[in-house]
Amino acid sequence: VTVPLAIGLDAGGTKALGVAIDAEGNVVEQQLRETPNDADALIETFAELVGELGDGPVGVGVPGLVTTAGVLVSAPNLINVRDLPVAARLQQRLGRPVAVDNDNTLSALAEWKLGAGRGASDMLLVGLGTGIGGGVVAGGQLQRGVHGFAGEFGHVVVDPDGPSCPCGRRGCWERYASGSGLARLARLAADRGALTALVAAVGDDAGAIRGEDVTAAAAAGDPEARAVIAEFAGWVALGLVNLTYMFDPEVIVISGGLSADPDQFLPPIRAEFERPRFAGVRRTPPEIRFAQLGPRAGAVGAALLARERN
Ligand SMILES: [Zn+2]
Repeated sequence: VTVPLAIGLDAGGTKALGVAIDAEGNVVEQQLRETPNDADALIETFAELVGELGDGPVGVGVPGLVTTAGVLVSAPNLINVRDLPVAARLQQRLGRPVAVDNDNTLSALAEWKLGAGRGASDMLLVGLGTGIGGGVVAGGQLQRGVHGFAGEFGHVVVDPDGPSCPCGRRGCWERYASGSGLARLARLAADRGALTALVAAVGDDAGAIRGEDVTAAAAAGDPEARAVIAEFAGWVALGLVNLTYMFDPEVIVISGGLSADPDQFLPPIRAEFERPRFAGVRRTPPEIRFAQLGPRAGAVGAALLARERN
């Protein structure tokens, strides 16, 4: 008996990953390409990936606002791609069914079915990357909202007087608690005269500090870098508490670049989350877990979506 495969693609801001999964969700084949910042080239790249991965229904994750009809409205890292009917175009090009959704929504689906959220009826995925994306499972259902735009946790405002955000508001959570937020907190610390060793290491230019630099310095034992990580963890926890009040989840799964380094981030986030945050409230906080499927979660979730829809 041949097990039917399902194909999942996940277009990040720079790389597009394609996988084929078997009936148990194991990745049996994968391919990687650059993500072109152009509508026609993007569809062509998807078609090439599918051609290399074989037969089966196709799911696609894209890094932006996706309507329930599979139209990519906009994506912060693909500025030349707007209002692209990805599902319709790719289906026409391939002659087989194509389902399209937001990449974090699909990571949530994958972590819920196969990873850190397995067995939970209510789970949130918080994707800490350059920005913050999210996915919501509530009452045993993946949620999309009326337009498909649910789970954009990064643009919940945590300080109305905070730094401006490309979305048009100020003080969005992702200005503090994402990878770019970590770099921003580090630059502010450098401006106060802290992080001297790290600033020297990046050529005396505080503006050049990236999130990874802070993480590496903290891992090497730099106490000032550790203080920045602790401050960052406080901002992450603040948002997670807000989400807990909104959704009462059983599990919050943290994914994205930071989840590659759980030893560094998980203890301070858990400590900040559990310590004073629910002290006066009689409620059971959710469990905070880091994602288990790694950078392939979005593509695996896309393949699961393809299988669900067919
Ligand atoms: Zn915003």
